[in-house]
Amino acid sequence: MSEKLSFVNPTANSPWGTYLSQVDRVVPYLGPLARWVETLKRPKRALIVDVPIEMDDGTIAHFEGYRVQHNMSRGPGKGGVRFHPDVTLEEVMALSAWMTIKTAAVNLPYGGAKGGIRVDPKKLSLQELEKITRRYTSEIGIIIGPHTDIPAPDVNTNGQIMAWMMDTYSMNTGGTATGVVTGKPLHLGGSLGRVKATGRGVFVTGREAARRLGMDLRGARIAVQGFGNVGSVAAELFAEAGAKIVAVQDHTGTIVNTNGLDLSKLIPVANKEGVIAFKGGDVVPNEAFWDTACDILIPAALEGQITAERAQKTTAKLVLEGANGPTVPTADDILAERGVLVVPDVICNAGGVTVSYFEWVQDFSSFFWDEDEINVRLDRIMMNALNQIWDTADKHKISLRTATYAVACERILMARQERGLYP
Ligand code: GLU
Repeated sequence: MSEKLSFVNPTANSPWGTYLSQVDRVVPYLGPLARWVETLKRPKRALIVDVPIEMDDGTIAHFEGYRVQHNMSRGPGKGGVRFHPDVTLEEVMALSAWMTIKTAAVNLPYGGAKGGIRVDPKKLSLQELEKITRRYTSEIGIIIGPHTDIPAPDVNTNGQIMAWMMDTYSMNTGGTATGVVTGKPLHLGGSLGRVKATGRGVFVTGREAARRLGMDLRGARIAVQGFGNVGSVAAELFAEAGAKIVAVQDHTGTIVNTNGLDLSKLIPVANKEGVIAFKGGDVVPNEAFWDTACDILIPAALEGQITAERAQKTTAKLVLEGANGPTVPTADDILAERGVLVVPDVICNAGGVTVSYFEWVQDFSSFFWDEDEINVRLDRIMMNALNQIWDTADKHKISLRTATYAVACERILMARQERGLYP
């Protein structure tokens, strides 16, 4: 945050600043709805909580936690919870806003929210992780709920953490509230296909973008940054389609193999020790990742990774944003000038929240679908949304990002206008 804590003064180069400039770019395409656009430039509600826990060594540690509800015009807040040492309120604000755009872009009946704790979960024992999760859930329990705001996994959170969140909320409210979080284990009302959904959505939108560019996926060279739930699943699906994964970067470092990395061997090693422990590729300095010759670049880690300088040097013709907010606005312009197509985060990685929506619907109806049904519906929603966005981009001669914002913001601001101001 800038010196004066405020929703509208972003720190330079921050994710919130990136989001605000993305909104500014869509205003000319909103017509009379532009009157309501300020509503998107500030979150509806932001909660900061203290999360104290007793550590295994007997000391008391305090962590800072957040839950931001950016917009609820179209439905309850929806969005993940991130555990990371760099989490800030301003970052969570941006992530919550991107959820608002994303849920509207694929037309799910949700608003946007996000949460996080500033902590390095890799330094916690399992018991400490459970304590921090439960205390955080209890603290944000005053604003979350199955009909108000529904958390889910994000960076460094998973099904076990969702199970603890669901249990804590249920214990505090006296029932069994499966619909309060999504991304739960299958025994607790989780959905088939949820774990792979985000990576699958990246693949489905990427395959369609490649088809429209006339790029053959067979033999296409792909560089993937971030090898968690999103990057590794997308990489696997592209490799199945015949592409070569030539570079992978995770928090441990970067490996390159111009003949293509063997994913069936890489993934188990990466999950346990990180990618640099894998022997089937060359370890290179992290910055060299951006120089690797590739046709498709998949940023699937954190925000702000594609800077102007990196946008200038990438050889990719197609960028698939598996991460939220990976491209800064100046880099967006450079990629456009260089003829590189960007499938933006708010549609590219929307597969996760789409299957979260299926999970929530299944929890309420207490009737569960098989995996084929989930994947068929997911693919249909992603393709319909992408086609509509593409038509909008062609019509106005704008980027896919601005077109996605145009489609999404019209839905959000129309709902806002129809609901009217209270009181
Ligand atoms: N954390 C994911 C995202 O950024 C999923 C959110 C959800 O399922 O609610 O889209």
